[in-house]
Amino acid sequence: MAMCINESTRREFFKNAAVIGAAAAGVQAVAASGAAHAAPRSAAAAGSGEKVALTNVRVFDGRVLSAPRTVVIDNGLIGISAFGARTVDCGGAALLPGLIDSHIHVQNEGTLEQLASFGVTTGLDMACFPPSVFQGLRGLPGLTDIRSAGTPAVAPGSPQSRIPTFPPSGVVTGPEQAHQFVTDRIAEGSDYIKLIVDSPGLDQATLTAITRKAHAFGRLVMAHAVTNATIGTALTANVDMIHHVPLDAAVTAAIAGRYAGSGTIAVPTLTMMEGFAGLGIPGYSYANARDGVATLRQAGVRILAGTDSNHTPGIPVQPAFGSSLHHELELLVGAGLSTAEALRSATCLPARSFGLRDRGAIRPGYRADLVLVDGDPLADIRATRAIQRVWVGGAEYPPAS
Ligand SMILES: [Zn+2]
Repeated sequence: MAMCINESTRREFFKNAAVIGAAAAGVQAVAASGAAHAAPRSAAAAGSGEKVALTNVRVFDGRVLSAPRTVVIDNGLIGISAFGARTVDCGGAALLPGLIDSHIHVQNEGTLEQLASFGVTTGLDMACFPPSVFQGLRGLPGLTDIRSAGTPAVAPGSPQSRIPTFPPSGVVTGPEQAHQFVTDRIAEGSDYIKLIVDSPGLDQATLTAITRKAHAFGRLVMAHAVTNATIGTALTANVDMIHHVPLDAAVTAAIAGRYAGSGTIAVPTLTMMEGFAGLGIPGYSYANARDGVATLRQAGVRILAGTDSNHTPGIPVQPAFGSSLHHELELLVGAGLSTAEALRSATCLPARSFGLRDRGAIRPGYRADLVLVDGDPLADIRATRAIQRVWVGGAEYPPAS
């Protein structure tokens, strides 16, 4: 499989998105006036400002570990010259780009602390409300950086709509509400749009209308779908990523072919599916989820590591923030990904898929989001758990013991 590439259509979308983004930013600027937005802080401001040279590190380049070399942290970013830097001899340990979890539900600052302590330096939230929750967690210096979907689109009468704190503006009754739903989310600061695709649930016309509207505003669209039928509906709507993977039957070759043909990205959340399979619900089997990932991979579908970590009241499975990403990597390897593919699924691939151009690799000018681990995770993926040190935007964060 091509490493970190294979995305001509997706790249085209981002090119367009960059143009349209100006329009979207305009909407945001108008909407944000008077709203309680946390002031975004730059990566440089988040760093310690200190210049540190990590010597004798073997760097994961997306494919292999390099021969021992030096990586410089300079004012929050990966630097070029070690001149004047404090030196830290890393004794030949492996240096990975900060890990990215492509499916979490943020709750509070503790969420970010747990993620950081396990080397997860970027967390991509896939639904939280009210919007003040994620607005207050953005750009905190030295802590895991987040993006958020905010309020998802759900159907009237759906289980989500009955959650007492669920914002009424997330309940969508038809395609004519697509514009309002998307502009409401952009006004609140949602980075991408999330749809709950369920049966019964939002109909095809509504899902397609919201997706078109989101794309017109340069926003990616995430779909929750847990059966072959609802995945088919999400694919017809032309969403960008589909989260979860069915437990009641493996993903079919036909569905995998549609995924691959459209360039749609899969975030299987095997950790969550394993948890649900363990609840003893008749007809649910983890083997279906694992086989589905194998089928998606064989079809050439891009797969991202996401855990569905949450601390949401009423959700029966609550994977722990941070540590669960290491478990997800193990499950992905168990489903047939190579160790290098698994590492890419939590580094360069999510960075590219979400348009995060300043991270996902160890490269001059990128954020100094780094994880130093003992052993060789390419030989044994479990080595990612042996964390020696973590840097978030250049600031060192104490690893979980
Ligand atoms: Zn979720």
